[in-house]
Amino acid sequence: MEKSLILVKPDGLQRGLVGEIISRFERKGLKIIGLKMLSIEDSTLEQHYEHLADKPFFSDIKEFMKSSPIVAIALEGGEGAVSAIRTLVGPTKGQEAPGGTIRGDFGLSGSNNIVHASDSVENGRVEVDRFFDGNELFEYTKTDFDHIYGR
Ligand code: ADP
Repeated sequence: MEKSLILVKPDGLQRGLVGEIISRFERKGLKIIGLKMLSIEDSTLEQHYEHLADKPFFSDIKEFMKSSPIVAIALEGGEGAVSAIRTLVGPTKGQEAPGGTIRGDFGLSGSNNIVHASDSVENGRVEVDRFFDGNELFEYTKTDFDHIYGR
């Protein structure tokens, strides 16, 4: 199974979009295996956005991500789930993201873009383990699996 880390960023929380975002992933058929609110620490942020450390806007991202709590969601799905989740989220810039995507429907910013989603299967595994301890992740049978993935 594939895993993806979703973060509802401070703007998503402040704008009251937590339920909407969770709902979009649920109705797609993705399985929630972890869910919590947290204040993100510098060390976690530096690991999470390591690929942007040399960008001029890096300090702005850090400040933004610490401006309020965030909500972390660990999702699980079958083959292609990580990519499907990125499709639901939309491209980075809200002003360019197509309608129907979370970023396209709710934002016009390239930085305050409501939600993070893992960009590869490998990063999904790493990021879920970065944000969730083992005892915060749940294994259970989602009984609609055959309908969601049936051919
Ligand atoms: P994505 O979140 O779509 O995977 P990136 O990994 O490239 O995009 O960037 C991580 C986050 O950094 C973005 O979601 C956005 O919040 C912020 N960001 C990216 N590019 C810029 C930029 N040019 N200016 C300000 N913030 C940016």
